[in-house]
Amino acid sequence: MTQVLVTGGAGFLGSHLCDRLIARGDEVLCVDNFYTGGKANVRHLMGNKNFELMRHDVTFPLYVEVDRIFNLACPASPVHYQHDPVQTTKTSVHGAINMLGLAKRLKARILQASTSEVYGDPSMHPQREEYWGNVNPIGPRSCYDEGKRCAETLFFDYWRQHQLAIKVIRIFNTYGPRMQPDDGRVVSNFIVQALKGEPITLYGDGLQTRSFCYVDDLIEGMLRLMDSDKSITGPINVGNPVEFTMRELAELVVAITGSKSTIAFRPLPQDDPKQRRPDITQAREKLGWEPKVALADGLKETVDYFRRTLDFTAELAPT
Ligand code: NAD
Ligand code: UDP
Ligand code: UDP
Repeated sequence: MTQVLVTGGAGFLGSHLCDRLIARGDEVLCVDNFYTGGKANVRHLMGNKNFELMRHDVTFPLYVEVDRIFNLACPASPVHYQHDPVQTTKTSVHGAINMLGLAKRLKARILQASTSEVYGDPSMHPQREEYWGNVNPIGPRSCYDEGKRCAETLFFDYWRQHQLAIKVIRIFNTYGPRMQPDDGRVVSNFIVQALKGEPITLYGDGLQTRSFCYVDDLIEGMLRLMDSDKSITGPINVGNPVEFTMRELAELVVAITGSKSTIAFRPLPQDDPKQRRPDITQAREKLGWEPKVALADGLKETVDYFRRTLDFTAELAPT
């Protein structure tokens, strides 16, 4: 039986990954400090004999015995990663060093959850893995972007220096059930606002673009990368290459929820990337992967999830 460590396993993506690993018969050690994730995301796995939850901060060393490591620990929403930026950099950098040290001792395969944010505000569009990016090193997003870039550097240095079996996935904006309602990311914000009948907060002119991947598609890509031949290290883009403006997203959410919410324009945060879309040629060719879930379908699932888990009745705007 394969023993798998998932750091950040009680978060949005991590909990879905734990589900898939358990379903295929792996033994899962989920490590999380519950900074942005929570036990609620993995409560349904608690009684499973192949699942173990451990409270631990990856900026401290971790001595466990596993065959594979998925390193997902890191707050992902700008609101949360900017709340304590020094801790964000520590999580990415010290966390990577500790998990790479663990992988080195165990000769374990290790995957890093990197991000499209390594491309910054990109001047190449769509983004290919060869592009080195356009990142402000001293801005409010830098703790996340540069922390993730340094983690990639560490992964490739451990690969060159210690011949570690590494896998680096560059994840583009992903959404779905188990995003936190107060997470601050655009999909959860818009859905919660629409369901509450509150104004939808559109930052800037709303013409900036993102490409949204449904969580099930993303996890499939991540597993395929981890299971791929040792020669495939990445970095490899995994995301949905269909691009939307935030204005289009707001309109779609309003249509799907049947909400009466209006649009409220808010200032654009500093260094907000203007456009983002993955080139997924490598994922197609090397992993045989491409996304299957269209945004409208994935949004319906996500809206259903928020409707089920949150009680909006008290706050619904009068009709
Ligand atoms: P999330 O915030 O829901 O999950 C992150 C998890 O890491 C949380 O459970 C949190 O408590 C935990 N964590 C944070 N700091 C930790 C620490 N020091 N020690 C242990 N655990 C810690 O975010 P997510 O969307 O599930 O993202 C998971 C990973 O994927 C992150 O590394 C993120 O950077 C990456 N990623 C996500 C997206 C996306 O769109 N969801 C895009 C690009 C990259
Ligand atoms: N480490 C860990 N678990 C292990 C082995 C190492 O957390 O099972 C951490 C330890 O804190 C160490 C870091 O990983 O500082 C890097 O390990 P490495 O062996 O690369 O370097 P060194 O031990 O020489 O600092
Ligand atoms: N955004 C928005 N309203 C919100 C939250 C975000 O218009 O309530 C915008 C934000 O400015 C950005 C895009 O939506 O252009 C995606 O933001 P998110 O924080 O989800 O992800 P990231 O910027 O990290 O890609």
